[in-house]
Amino acid sequence: MTPDPRQIPSVDQLLHLSTTAWLIESFGRTMTLKALRETLNTLRNNLIHGKIVDLTPESILTQAQNLLNTWFTLSLKPVINATGVILHTNLGRAPLSPSALQAISHIAPGYCNLEFDLETGRRGSRNLHATQLLIQLTGAEDALVVNNNAAAVLLVLSALAARRNVLVARSQLIEIGGGFRIPEILHQSRARLIEVGTTNRTRIEDFERALQESGAALILRAHHSNFRIIGFTEEPDLTELANLAHRYQIPLVDDLGSGALVDTAKYDLTHEPMVQESLAANADLVCFSGDKLLGGPQAGIILGRKDLLEKIKRHPLARAVRADKITLVALSATLLHYLKGDWEQAIPVWHMIAQSAETLKARANRWQAALQVGSVIESRSTIGGGSLPGETLPTYVLALGVKSPSQALKWLRHRPYPIVARIENDHIVLDPRTVLEEQEDILLRELRQLLTQIKPSL
Ligand SMILES: *Cc1c(COP(=O)(O)O)cnc(C)c1O
Repeated sequence: MTPDPRQIPSVDQLLHLSTTAWLIESFGRTMTLKALRETLNTLRNNLIHGKIVDLTPESILTQAQNLLNTWFTLSLKPVINATGVILHTNLGRAPLSPSALQAISHIAPGYCNLEFDLETGRRGSRNLHATQLLIQLTGAEDALVVNNNAAAVLLVLSALAARRNVLVARSQLIEIGGGFRIPEILHQSRARLIEVGTTNRTRIEDFERALQESGAALILRAHHSNFRIIGFTEEPDLTELANLAHRYQIPLVDDLGSGALVDTAKYDLTHEPMVQESLAANADLVCFSGDKLLGGPQAGIILGRKDLLEKIKRHPLARAVRADKITLVALSATLLHYLKGDWEQAIPVWHMIAQSAETLKARANRWQAALQVGSVIESRSTIGGGSLPGETLPTYVLALGVKSPSQALKWLRHRPYPIVARIENDHIVLDPRTVLEEQEDILLRELRQLLTQIKPSL
């Protein structure tokens, strides 16, 4: 027998219950009332459509609480990255070092001297904070930190090349994903793009001819980032480009993308162009991200000539893309690791890169032993984040044979602490390199639960 809609309790009736009082205390009156109304509406609709419904206050309040729980859960939540992609842009790129976190919690709860000169008691500049460290580390004349590297490139071009020509090698007209395309950024800054050379080969003579034919406000070099051209290729080196630019009295801007401050070759990777090398090659400005190989918060860093940076800081866009105090303090704390020389231990990205295959094999073996299922096999971790295109590091992964790997991945993604893994040869594989050690217990607990629900096909 279907109940009569008139049997549905009213909001007023529900308000007298102690559970409702508790909901109001936990979630506030407005949202609790909203949840009750929505729940009652759903019930009414279900009744009208002849569905079986439970009209007890307990059931109604449980449904309202479920609604409130979903409304009050932050959509941004931590996930376990078992993909082995270290700088995973979709997973928030670089995890921060403990001291960067400490710096944030030191500054964020209160006021700080962000733009206040404690010496004089007058207005100061937010640009000072990370700048001194960047100058110390790289020997650059000056520095500016903005929202991200896309903003850095846009700002530099807008301030130095609006309505003028910018020379870029055809092989460097890149798209790095997420809508960052060099030609579009140029267009947005109102600079005119002059394409130089061919897709695979561009020589210094091509740049010189372009300068003679059309003149330019600057030469832009962009790191290939997420792709590699192989075979019959040629690009002028940075020193050659800088010399040419300077002969024509224009600046050379180097968009490094990742901006490594240390040599990746030490970690059995291809040598990623370093910030210090660009400056040594006489690039006038260098731009790079804070959250790629630097291993810090999202930020864009511009280093180089003081006169150019003065001009850039005065441009209205500089105000629009400025970095906030949280970024500046987290970036500063990250930079201190490079000054001190403990980046490999302290900065998660470098800690992950530095983990040896043997260490990773031992971790994967521990997982296998704890679960008593699956096998440990050789695989490759990826740097990602548009750094070191195609570069991988040897790793060992735990491979689990399950009936439907994609269903299993979906189940793992839907856990309260979601786990992101990948499929290789019809197995789900979990790479210890990108799993933080403090996440291992949760990972193993979830995997155990997954395995009790689906029979592993060993
Ligand atoms: C990643 C990258 C950017 C964009 O940097 P964001 O910090 O993500 O804005 C720009 N240029 C190059 C060459 C890059 O690799």
